[in-house]
Amino acid sequence: EKSIVTPHIAMLPSPGMGHLTPFAELAKRLISIHGFTVTFITLSSSQSPTQTDFLSSLPPSISSRSLPAVSLSDAPSNARIETILSLEASRSVPAVTSILKDLKTKTNLVAFIADLFCCDLFEAARSVGLPCYMFFPSNCLFLSLMLHLPTLDATTTCEYRDLPGPLELPGCIPIPGPDLLHPLQDRSNDCYRWMVHHGSRYHEADAILVNSFEAIEPNAVRILRQHRPPVHAVGPMIRDKSTDRFDKSGCFDWLDKQPAGSVLYISFGSGGALTKEQMVELALGLERSKQRFLWMVRSPLGEEVVGTNYLNEESQNDPFPFLPLEFVERTKEVGMLVPSWAPQVSILGHQSTGGFMTHCGWNSTVESLINGVPMITWPLYAEQHQNAIMLVDGIGAALRLKERDDCLVDREEIARVVRELMEGSEGRRVRGKAKELQEVAAVTVKEGGQSYEALVKVANKLKLERHVGVD
Ligand code: UDP
Repeated sequence: EKSIVTPHIAMLPSPGMGHLTPFAELAKRLISIHGFTVTFITLSSSQSPTQTDFLSSLPPSISSRSLPAVSLSDAPSNARIETILSLEASRSVPAVTSILKDLKTKTNLVAFIADLFCCDLFEAARSVGLPCYMFFPSNCLFLSLMLHLPTLDATTTCEYRDLPGPLELPGCIPIPGPDLLHPLQDRSNDCYRWMVHHGSRYHEADAILVNSFEAIEPNAVRILRQHRPPVHAVGPMIRDKSTDRFDKSGCFDWLDKQPAGSVLYISFGSGGALTKEQMVELALGLERSKQRFLWMVRSPLGEEVVGTNYLNEESQNDPFPFLPLEFVERTKEVGMLVPSWAPQVSILGHQSTGGFMTHCGWNSTVESLINGVPMITWPLYAEQHQNAIMLVDGIGAALRLKERDDCLVDREEIARVVRELMEGSEGRRVRGKAKELQEVAAVTVKEGGQSYEALVKVANKLKLERHVGVD
């Protein structure tokens, strides 16, 4: 029977663990603190084993409906991941409309919340009279760029890497053109058009939620709050360590034996991989640093484009043959290698973990900050280069690695920066900053904290929405 008391929300995250996880956390908070129930609608690319496992581990108060696959056979074979996800979303309008209609008959459906690549589905929600919200799973810097993009597109003609100076978005750290969002770096690619399209659609939302918080982006958060549609910073939202899957690698037995704060954790996220040459250099750099490390090691890139692992998180290939000869044997006293997929949140929360070499995916970044772990930035694609600049020059909780002119980060540089982070004086500064932010992050999501209260405001608005909708 249709519940007239419990307000219900339909959420539609883009495929990929980096999108599903903050959505699940948002859903859990709206359920436990604010009394909503939630249906997750997922696109068919969310059916990789890691994502399916994650979806089936969600609490029963979150129902799940998966959409049928849509044909993408007309997309070019080298289409970028952002193009694929956007196409999939835009072609799912009829299927989403019929799910929303059905939910309306069975629940007190008050709103639809989609994310960065799924705003075309606002059409489905509007057609059944639902308010449309967006949850942006990254930071204010990236969101500001997307909101500004239609103007930037209309007022410039050059590639962004050739812009005369860094791009200064309101309240944000300036970003040099070459470090702007990866999909914007080639105006002739479909992917660029999609980004401009999404940027213009964001303005149609009734409100936007963003997974950031005032302590790390103070000016941007304040400026965006006045934006129309209003932007509410409700982060940091990260998944709970209970969602880390059972650990087959034995890494916790190993971590338990290491001194507090002594281990550098290394991971490049669900889609990241290095070239063969770079992987060897990283291994030799770690060895040279003489620091302890726990490396989520992946097979190197072949000829494919960066980010192609994105929907196949657990790479199937065996990465060990790509490591330098006898590397494993030589480093067995200080190093632990975890192939394919690591229980990251638990690793970052372990007392032996003292640093994180990261690709700067936003979830990884936030998971690190919440645990007070300082970072070394190794951005690869998406918005990761912008995030790295923000972490090093803005927030001050990370150190950067310098590339050579041929783009390789060599072993000397890796050893130097790893030692600096774990033991040096610059390292002390970023370690201190990470610890300071850990405390602030814990406070902001508790009752009375800025992010908590921002979500209260949104929840109250959502509850009022139930009196409006049209049938
Ligand atoms: N993750 C994990 N184990 C791994 C690699 C990644 O648990 O071996 C999780 C990580 O904790 C984070 C998400 O996958 O929650 C990755 O999201 P992020 O935004 O950092 O990067 P993306 O994978 O989207 O590039």
